[in-house]
Amino acid sequence: MGSTLRNKRFWLFLIVVLALPVLPAPLRAPEYWVTLLNYIGLYSIVAIGLVLLTGIGGMTSFGQAAFVGLGAYSTALLSTTYGLSPWLGLLAGLVVTTVAAMLIGAITMRLSGHFLPLGTIAWGLSLFFLFGNLNVLGKYDGINGIPSLDVFGWQLDSGRRIYYVIWVVVIGAAISVQNLLDSRPGRAIRALRGGTTMAEAMGVNTAWMKVVIFTYAAILASISGFLYAHLQRAVNPTPFGLNYGILFLFMAVVGGVEHVWGAVLGAAILTVLQDWLQSLLPKLLGSSGNYEVIVFGVLMVLLLQFARDGVWPFLARWFPMRRHADTPREVEALPRRSMPVASEALLVVDKLSKTFGGLVAVNEVSFTVKAGEIVGLIGPNGAGKSTTFNLVSGVLRASSGSITFAGERIDRCASREIARRGIGRTFQHVRLLPRMSVLENVAIGAHLRGRGGVWRSIVRLNGADETRLMAEAARQLDRVGLSRYLHNEAGSLALGQQRILEIARALCVDPTLLLLDEPAAGLRYQEKQALADLLRKLKTEGTSILLVEHDMDFVMNLTDHLVVMEFGTKIAEGQPADIQTNQAVLDAYLGGVE
Ligand code: ADP
Ligand code: MG
Repeated sequence: MGSTLRNKRFWLFLIVVLALPVLPAPLRAPEYWVTLLNYIGLYSIVAIGLVLLTGIGGMTSFGQAAFVGLGAYSTALLSTTYGLSPWLGLLAGLVVTTVAAMLIGAITMRLSGHFLPLGTIAWGLSLFFLFGNLNVLGKYDGINGIPSLDVFGWQLDSGRRIYYVIWVVVIGAAISVQNLLDSRPGRAIRALRGGTTMAEAMGVNTAWMKVVIFTYAAILASISGFLYAHLQRAVNPTPFGLNYGILFLFMAVVGGVEHVWGAVLGAAILTVLQDWLQSLLPKLLGSSGNYEVIVFGVLMVLLLQFARDGVWPFLARWFPMRRHADTPREVEALPRRSMPVASEALLVVDKLSKTFGGLVAVNEVSFTVKAGEIVGLIGPNGAGKSTTFNLVSGVLRASSGSITFAGERIDRCASREIARRGIGRTFQHVRLLPRMSVLENVAIGAHLRGRGGVWRSIVRLNGADETRLMAEAARQLDRVGLSRYLHNEAGSLALGQQRILEIARALCVDPTLLLLDEPAAGLRYQEKQALADLLRKLKTEGTSILLVEHDMDFVMNLTDHLVVMEFGTKIAEGQPADIQTNQAVLDAYLGGVE
């Protein structure tokens, strides 16, 4: 995705840069068009933030207009009542917005399902009423007499002049978000979409990532508000209410909520449409009112029915897209952690239990994985194997018992803390990002081994870090035999290959212990052989492996030690050869049938 996007972006960048800004002034575009383009620009900036928050992060917000208001009122108040420079107003707006967004974000981003959108409506309305009721903000009349912006002595006192600043900000905002998405934190953000379990297992602090994108989207909205205030030279609460919050979301969705440039397209479509409908509908219906809202509603329903991805993908087809995905360069490998001494106890599970309501899924299970061993966890369906895995990897919290890894208790640790200590895992039901490339999916595993943060990524100062992470991901893919597919979409791989991809991702964690949940499921015979070879090779390199598996042949020839579970209880353990003839195990597997 990275390089193709960059390519597409380059063309668009060129077109937008060359075409739009030169339009109004030299061509003497009518005032009407300049105004419309200014508004499209202002709305685009907000909608671009929503692409990041809603389209990529999966968190719906109806409240962005309130942040536009924070930016607008901050500069309005400081530049009129206090007579300060608008640039101080911008700074104040950014500080107020950042603080407010981090506070609001820390609370609302915890909400799940439809509580989150409802939460955004709640604080959107609160801020709106705050603007309308504060004396110092002029109540519902707002603030008038805001000065125009002054850029190096150039007075932006007309729509025609501020136009350039607005569109430079639009392009900057779009590129910053695109840069962010093509980076280490960006991959973590994209991983938020399907729930947080996988990202956390790779060491991502998902709660923090959510607050980060929420705050970034709010900052973009606030900058839009700042520009709006100095374009209008007056503010009142109306454009910062819920109606506009909904409109911004419409724009992002119409354009294509997963595409940064779709936000600009959506803003353009809805702004022009709104303008057109506002003059047309009252004439048709013979009375005045906000009828366009009804049309927007219908449009929204149609779009969700027939074009979930918005309008952008239809347009994007017409842009030249060369697929010259760059193969990661060979660079110095990332530092690795030291391997534990062979045959020392690495993972000690002691009297571990987990109950779900009345069901005892895991019942006082104990076993040990020694360093350099491959241990198999087997048992019929529903025996509690996956639950045991989720307890060890911190996805679930144990009801009782203890888990010790490398000499330290981990049964109270969050899953990202467990990843940090060197446990990498795969999932029984694969968890990857189907539209993202194989390489980028695997690079998520190396999250904790990179340093590139949000700000460095936005301004592209993360080059060296990115190169190392991508090289590591490519190296692990090569190791598992998927190097042919680096730039394919992960979702296009066969299910068996997707499981192997997850192993490569887990290897990027640089694990001393690898937890594999049914890695051979869906593989053909040859592929199973290759997987077994790989696991043996990992073992000789010192990696310990705990695997859940159904295929008895696969387990028998591979493992050093087997733990057998049935109905949550350990019924046997020992060497594969002994387990094969163990009566209790045979009974469990054959259900007592001879
Ligand atoms: P296995 O992986 O050995 O097939 P699991 O560990 O997935 O078995 O499940 C063990 C038992 O716990 C099953 O009866 C399953 O229905 C139950 N179980 C697993 N996860 C949950 C959950 N989140 N909530 C309630 N019951 C669960
Ligand atoms: Mg299972």
